[in-house]
Amino acid sequence: MPVPRIYHTEAIVLSRFELGEADRVLTLLTPHDGKLKAIAKGVRRQRSRLGGAVEPFAELYLVLARARTFDVITSASVAHAWLSLRERLESTATAWYLAEMAERAVEERAFAYPVYALLKRAYQLLDDGMAPSRVARWFEFGLADALGMRPEVERCVECDRTLEPDEEFRWVPILGGTLCATHPTPSAEVAPLSLAALKLLRAYRRLDIEAIAGLRLPAAVEAEVEVALRRFIRAVLEREARSLAFLDEVRARRARVPA
Ligand SMILES: [Zn+2]
Repeated sequence: MPVPRIYHTEAIVLSRFELGEADRVLTLLTPHDGKLKAIAKGVRRQRSRLGGAVEPFAELYLVLARARTFDVITSASVAHAWLSLRERLESTATAWYLAEMAERAVEERAFAYPVYALLKRAYQLLDDGMAPSRVARWFEFGLADALGMRPEVERCVECDRTLEPDEEFRWVPILGGTLCATHPTPSAEVAPLSLAALKLLRAYRRLDIEAIAGLRLPAAVEAEVEVALRRFIRAVLEREARSLAFLDEVRARRARVPA
């Protein structure tokens, strides 16, 4: 059966770049076609039909026509605009970071429903006003899981022994999670992990995000888990996310402004 030239899909805009005088090329995440690049022709002209629809961090319904280089967007309507997400700089910066991770994690033209559903829920949570750092940690954990690389936080990655609260643990992203104290220090990146941080990592594994959002946590424990999960994701995706520098700058600036 020939592949139809016109097709419909839901999509979230991950990134974009300008092409020529009036066009824009979008990198889209779709549930069933994975990542794909599509062109929005004439979108930067004032009277464009596509106009405001094709913005980042929105879920769209698209009609596309297959073409040689980039598929062409023939119509677009907004399913979810998530406008509140864009009103806060930290949520916006977090949304860029999540989009970049999703873009790295998904193949072109491949089934990507789990990552799509994860990103969609994360944007909804940011739009609802949930703490961006908790949404980001929940997303990192879920993304590793969706890629079949869920961090091991219950047992030792080396000897498979269940970790007990009274021992010392180490966090070794490249080995897949926690390592007990009986093994020699690995040559890979390794950091000590506190019991409180291990418990929070377990909470991210076991609890739904609504339950995690309600936890009252010391800032130091959240910071430790942030470093641990960012390192884990860097090991999974094999590089540092570029958008993290922007996110950290936004947060540092916020911390300097007295409340
Ligand atoms: Zn062990």
